[in-house]
Parts: sequence; structure tokens; C-alpha cells
Amino acid sequence: MTPTPPKAFLIDLDGTLYFKGEPYPGAIETVNYLRQKKYQLRFLTNTTAKTPKMLHAQMQALGFDIYEDEIFNATYACLQYLHAQPKNRCHFMVDDAVKAFFKEIPIDDNAPDFVVVGDYGEGFDFHALNHAFRLLMNGAELIALQKNLYWLSAEGMFLDCGAFVTLLEAAAGTTAKVMGKPSETFFNIALESLQRSPSEAIVVGDDITSDILGADRMAMRSILVKTGKFKSDQLEHRVAKPTWVLESISALGQLF
Ligand SMILES: [Mg+2]
Repeated sequence: MTPTPPKAFLIDLDGTLYFKGEPYPGAIETVNYLRQKKYQLRFLTNTTAKTPKMLHAQMQALGFDIYEDEIFNATYACLQYLHAQPKNRCHFMVDDAVKAFFKEIPIDDNAPDFVVVGDYGEGFDFHALNHAFRLLMNGAELIALQKNLYWLSAEGMFLDCGAFVTLLEAAAGTTAKVMGKPSETFFNIALESLQRSPSEAIVVGDDITSDILGADRMAMRSILVKTGKFKSDQLEHRVAKPTWVLESISALGQLF
């Protein structure tokens, strides 16, 4: 069977196009090349501490020719998901910039339909977690913008939002709906915006557990780049199988 020619690329940001504040060599040119070849582009990231507008400004500052409406993060996916729900009163555990992004969603801190958990830093104290726990026990559903357990900064390791989501899941006996990659919801929102089927899109990323696993679940083809988070043992663990493996995104033009 001849594979469907790709029409769109769903490209990860951090670790794929740039790393530690610098674009990878050839990354800007590769994005321009794909655009010249008339491929549709979407940029998918699990970063939830920033809105698409803030991410757009960051990518422009790095020199990438990317439009704001091409950038999808888990925060955006969550907003779309909440808009599609018949009842969507929310209790938010997110920082103020992200909370402002959800301004069209009704807030209910006492009897919400959803508890939405994102990057909340020091907001995750006993009082806040216990309040969320009680809301879940009263029937609210749990939404996680992403479920990373920890992250690494120049100051050392920090607990990430997934650690608190896991705590709430265990205590309340529930399972969070996760908005970021590898969730199918996230990829579906991106594909719907392009009016493309999974067979017409190719996922590009450095993270086998989010980018490539997500592609696998959707039966999409994928390219794993050996930059950013990539470690060679990830290929042996077979969490997911990329269709292609490239040294970096700058080699993508050799395939398409
Ligand atoms: Mg990445």
C-alpha cells in the first residue's frame, strides 16, 4: 500500500526547534522550507505556563516565521475542550496569566463541574490541594493541563503539576483527563483545525513518551529527532515506535 502523501506537519517546539533559548542549526530554514513546499503546519507544545500568544512572541524573537494561530499548547486544547462541554463551571489551579486565558469560562470554586490543574507552583499548598480533593469527592471531574512529574531548572529539580495531579487522583479515586501530548484530544484539536485526517499528518518531536506515543495512538506517522530530551535508550524501551529517526530537524528536507 502506498502511504498517503503528507499534507501537514505537527511539530514540537522545545527540544525540536530550539533548546535553552537558541534555535537549532537549520531549524528556522526547515520551517521556511516546509512552508515553501505548501505543507500545513501546526506547532504543538506541552508548555502550559505560557499562552499561545506568549509562545508566539518567544518563537518570533528566536527568528521563526510562525503564526500565532499555528501554535497549540495544552492550555489552548483545554479551552477548546471546555467550550465543547454542556456544563463547564471550573475551579482553576493555574497561575494568573493562564487563568486570564480562560476568562470566557465560568468560575465556580464551590461546586464546579471541573477542577483544572496546571502549573501552579507554590499555589499547591495543603489548603488548596485539600479544597480540590473535596470538590472531586463531590463529583467534579479532574482535568490536567499536563502530567509531567518534575522539571529541571538551573536551581535544580522541581515538582511539576503531574505530581499534584497524581496525588489528587489517588486520594479522590479518579483519573484525570490529560490535555497535553500524548492525549488524543490534543492531536484531534490540531487535526480538526487543519481539516486533515491522521493519515495526512506527520508528528515531529524529541519526546518518545509524548510526541511519538501520541502519534502511535492516533495511527499517525512520526519523526523522532535526536535532539532535546532524546536519549538512545528510549528507542530500546519501545514505548512507541517512530516511523523515522533523524539526527535533527534540519535533516527533514531529505525525507520530504
Ligand atoms: Mg520537546
